[in-house]
Amino acid sequence: MKTIAVANQKGGVGKTTTTVNLGTALAAMGYKVLLVDADPQGDLSSHLGYAGTENGATISDLMESVIKDEKPPEVVIHHEEKVDFIPSDIGLSDMEVSLVNVMAHEKIMEQALEPFKDKYDYCLIDCMPSLGIITVASLVAADRVLIPVQAQHFALKGLVSLFKSVNQVKRRINPRLDIDGIVLTMVDKRTNLSKDVCAALRSAYGHALKIYRAEIPVSTRTAESAASTHSVLTYDANGPASLAYKALAKEVTENERVRQQHQSALTR
Ligand code: ATP
Ligand code: MG
Repeated sequence: MKTIAVANQKGGVGKTTTTVNLGTALAAMGYKVLLVDADPQGDLSSHLGYAGTENGATISDLMESVIKDEKPPEVVIHHEEKVDFIPSDIGLSDMEVSLVNVMAHEKIMEQALEPFKDKYDYCLIDCMPSLGIITVASLVAADRVLIPVQAQHFALKGLVSLFKSVNQVKRRINPRLDIDGIVLTMVDKRTNLSKDVCAALRSAYGHALKIYRAEIPVSTRTAESAASTHSVLTYDANGPASLAYKALAKEVTENERVRQQHQSALTR
């Protein structure tokens, strides 16, 4: 299982939208995909139509079971678009506060996801807009970080602190961690602003970081799909955002294939 944390501590840049739509696009390609809602706002869960399960188990209960060394609760929900997800709710805020006193709390997400390792090809973690304990724990659990960046002024502001956190996690806890790349979201090719921001990003970071060719266009159908309990791939199958997320999924898998080839060339 390759675990990708979808992170940016700036709010409203398209993390949740990207997790849902990249996830369903990967599932449509035949991969087994697990999505993890790591945000107490529970936006990913709502987007996929979650309104509480019978036993009400969420990511916080899964973490609780790790802390208490108990059997994990049934927490995975199957969505008809062939993705599974682990929901979250506001209880994750309390969990984050109480984690401060838990030994090796940075490892909590990694341990919580351990039982799913052999069952999925990809796990995408939808991070909350902060660099607190849960987000750091998500980086510790991850192989890659995918950073959605909204094509807007000040888009680059704050990326430095995210890079610092990623480097710190990599250096001190999880040497596997790498930045997968940046995906530009809410791109409006009709405006110069959008074009300028995309060009500025490519020239500031393009040499050091992968910036995906696929750019997610701004589209009201995408915003609407959040309330439809479906991804935009179902809600607006042939729309531009749907095509862009499919193209992104292809690039992500291609990226992974190339990395694996490098890896095996090194170990041969
Ligand atoms: P938060 O930081 O609060 O978790 P986020 O980074 O997860 O936010 P989203 O919730 O995915 O961001 O998106 C923010 C808002 O923008 C939502 O209302 C969403 O529906 C809308 N949105 C996302 N992508 C697009 C798009 N391509 N076109 C138009 N609207 C979009
Ligand atoms: Mg979100």
